[in-house]
Amino acid sequence: MQEDCGLFGIYGHPKAAELTYLGLYALQHRGQESAGIVSSDGVNAFIHRGMGLVNKVFNEEALHSLVGHLAIGHNRYSTTGTSIIANTQPLLVNFFGEGIAISHNGNLINAAELREKLELGGSIFQTSMDTEVIVHLLTKFTKSLGKRKALLKALKKVKGAYSLLILTNDEIIGARDPHGFRPLVIGKLNKSFIFASETCAFDLIGAKYIREVKPGEMVVINKEGIKSFSLTPSKAITQCIFEHIYFARPDSLVFGESVHRVREKLGRRLSYEHPCKADIVIPVPDSGVSAALGYARKSKIPFAIGLTRNHYIGRTFIQPLQFIRDMEVKIKLNPIKDVLKGKRVVLVDDSIVRGTTSKKIIRLLREGGASEVHFRISSPPIKFPCFFGIDTPVQRELIASSHTVEEIKEELEADSLGYLSLEGLLSCVKNKEKYCTACFNGKYSLKVHPQTKYIFETKKHFREL
Ligand code: SF4
Repeated sequence: MQEDCGLFGIYGHPKAAELTYLGLYALQHRGQESAGIVSSDGVNAFIHRGMGLVNKVFNEEALHSLVGHLAIGHNRYSTTGTSIIANTQPLLVNFFGEGIAISHNGNLINAAELREKLELGGSIFQTSMDTEVIVHLLTKFTKSLGKRKALLKALKKVKGAYSLLILTNDEIIGARDPHGFRPLVIGKLNKSFIFASETCAFDLIGAKYIREVKPGEMVVINKEGIKSFSLTPSKAITQCIFEHIYFARPDSLVFGESVHRVREKLGRRLSYEHPCKADIVIPVPDSGVSAALGYARKSKIPFAIGLTRNHYIGRTFIQPLQFIRDMEVKIKLNPIKDVLKGKRVVLVDDSIVRGTTSKKIIRLLREGGASEVHFRISSPPIKFPCFFGIDTPVQRELIASSHTVEEIKEELEADSLGYLSLEGLLSCVKNKEKYCTACFNGKYSLKVHPQTKYIFETKKHFREL
C-alpha cells in the first residue's frame, strides 16, 4: 500500500516558494517519485519540477527562480499515469494568457470515460494523468461561465477522490471531493493563508491550523480574503480510514483527530481483542510504533525496540541483482539480538498486504533470537483493492482475499496471528459512519467505471489503452 500525493499551497507571502518547499519536505512521506512547485507574482507563473525527493529536485537557484507571493506544490506517488517527468505535478497550462496550475491528491474513477469524450471533441492531452481531465473541462467551460463557475461545473463532472489545489494569477483554490476521501486542511501564518494535506506541514513553518476543507467544499483565497463555495452535496462522506492506520504522519491531525492518538487506541483495542502471553511488545518501525505502544500499555507487557530501521532507503531501492533484491527487508530492518534473545514477542504492524514482507520480518526476529513471534495487526484483513488514490496490488495478490487467518498464520510462520476487527477499528475514530472501509469489506461508496478497473488490474496507463 503506497501513499498517493502531498499538497501544499500558500497565498500572500513574499517567500511563498521557500515555504512551499518546506511544506513539501514535511509531506515527503506522501509521495517520493517527484516534486514540483508553481508560483505566481500576479502576472506570470513560474515552475520547477523534477523526479525524486524534494531536496534532490530543488536547490537554491531553483527556489530563487520561483518568484511571487503565491505558490502551490506537490509530492507525487503515481496511482494512474506512468512515473515520468511529463506526469509530475503541479500541472501548468497557459490559458487565455494566464497560467493555471493544478495539484491533485486522489484518483478519478471516471477519468478514462471523460478523457475519451474530450479527445473525441478535439482536446489534445499532454500527459497520462487522470488530473489532466480537470484542466480540459475547466478550459472548455471557462469561456462561457468564467473561471470560478467553470471549475465548479468541471468538478461536478468528475467522480472519485480528489483533494485539489489550483493556482491562477491572483488566487489559490482548494477543493475536496464530496466524499472527502483525502485530507486537506487550512492554516494561517501571520496574514497568509495556507493549504496542506496534513497539519505536520504547518508545524514546520510555525503556521496555525484553522480547519479542514469540508468534503464537497471549494475554498477560494485571494486579496479579498477567504470564501467558501459548495460543490455537489455529498450523499455519504467516506474518508479514507487508512490515513489513520498508516498513511498520515503520527504528528498530524487528520479528519479532525490526532493520528498518533487514533493509532494508540487501535493498539489498545487490538490487545483487548487478541490478548497474548508474551515478554515484550515490539513495533514494525515506523508505522507500527503508536499501535504497539497502545498494545503494550493496555496489556501491561513491556514495550521494546526489537528492530531498527535503515532510514536511508527510499522507494528508489531498485537493485539489478536478484540476490540483493531478496535482501531488501534485511537491508531495511535489522533485529536487535540483545533485546530479542529468548523472548516471547508480540510484533505489531499496521497491515498485511501480500504477506511476503511480513514473513521475512518474522524470520528476522527468529534469527535474532525470539523464542515465539505473535503477530498482531492494527487493521482488519485487506481483501479488496483501492480505487480512490491508494496504490494497492490487484485483488488476487492480496493474501487475505484467498486465505483464512489460520492459513495466513501458517504461511507467515507466526506462532499466532490476530487482526483488529472492523468494528474495533471503527470504535477508535470519531464519526465512524464517515469512513471508507472498502479495502476490508468491498463496500465501495462509488461505482467504479470498468475501464478504471481495467487500468488498475493491468497497471496499464491511458496512453497504452
Ligand atoms: S478502499 Fe481502503 S485505502 Fe482506499 S479509500 Fe477506502 S479505506 Fe482508503
